[in-house]
Amino acid sequence: MKIVISDYAWPNIDIERNFFINKSIDLDVSSGKEDLIDKIKDADGLLFCFEDINEDVLRSAKNLKAAQRYGIGVDNINIKVATELGIVVSNIPDYCIDEVSDHALSMILAINRMIVPDSKMVKLGKWNDVKKNNRVFRLTDATLGIIGFGRIGRRLANKAKALGLKVIAYDPYINEQVYDGVNILPFDDVVSSSDILSLHVPLTKETNHLISYKELEKMKDNTILINVSRGGLIDEKALSEYLKSGKVRGVGMDVMEDHNPSSSNPLFEYENVIVTPHTAFFSQESSEELQIRSCEQLYGVLNGNKPKFLINPEVLNHPDVNLT
Ligand code: NAD
Repeated sequence: MKIVISDYAWPNIDIERNFFINKSIDLDVSSGKEDLIDKIKDADGLLFCFEDINEDVLRSAKNLKAAQRYGIGVDNINIKVATELGIVVSNIPDYCIDEVSDHALSMILAINRMIVPDSKMVKLGKWNDVKKNNRVFRLTDATLGIIGFGRIGRRLANKAKALGLKVIAYDPYINEQVYDGVNILPFDDVVSSSDILSLHVPLTKETNHLISYKELEKMKDNTILINVSRGGLIDEKALSEYLKSGKVRGVGMDVMEDHNPSSSNPLFEYENVIVTPHTAFFSQESSEELQIRSCEQLYGVLNGNKPKFLINPEVLNHPDVNLT
């Protein structure tokens, strides 16, 4: 059997090579979209991270049985086409919950405490010029609004509560009014009454540009906005126009609409915008766990086992799919 790795976000694939050694698997790594389209033609399995697994890629794969996402989000694979072609899609939804919630919390603390701009001033020899910015607020007087109260949102809520923040949340798929000790409120109420707004939803048609002109207008002045989920959740054009108003306290992003933005991105003009390059998931432990569990799950499917984390259950009705 042959497995292709389209891309990965760690220094090497020693873990993958060790896993598949002695398993009669030919492991191949592609070096970009064109190479992937070529290498996937006769592959049985696919491991993918950030690469866009679109219809062209899937249709060129004549033998593909399973596609395993290295990660949680599955917005970069065409699930409809995969299902039609009988390709089993799976992910690892529970591997980096602490890392991502820590990342969101770190951004909240860094923005509120002015860590990045003040450190920059000190290094420029301007210790005495640092203004005691009156927008820094006391966390125990502030409200954190969480949009998307799933694994990461709930973990962040627990950490924030330990710091004394009041937490509220919006999630249309939770029917309870209070969940895990947090009030579940309508979207508009969470947007308009939070001092800090943190997004933890998947990117779907429904959540694309969830935060745009209207929502930015509804936010309180001096809100801190955090997005460690997916770039498409925030309309960056609207955000960069709104940043001009000076009303936004600060923005922390681990993801952007363009997954590899150029230095001329208009958002980078603002000192109160901090950005990390999709590193929220990362720790030594989470990365190793992701690699090994992705290999195990993919290998299981190729050997006829239903994956624990199946994204497209309808695929089980496909005549070529026979998993137990
Ligand atoms: P999850 O599935 O446990 O939680 C997502 C929650 O969003 C669910 O409770 C769901 O009901 C809710 N939701 C769905 N549509 C919604 C909507 N329209 N409005 C409000 N809520 C909605 O997922 P998670 O593990 O908490 O991860 C959240 C997202 O974080 C993932 O989809 C992924 O895109 C992103 N993520 C980013 C990184 C990173 O490195 N930056 C790492 C892992 C995950």
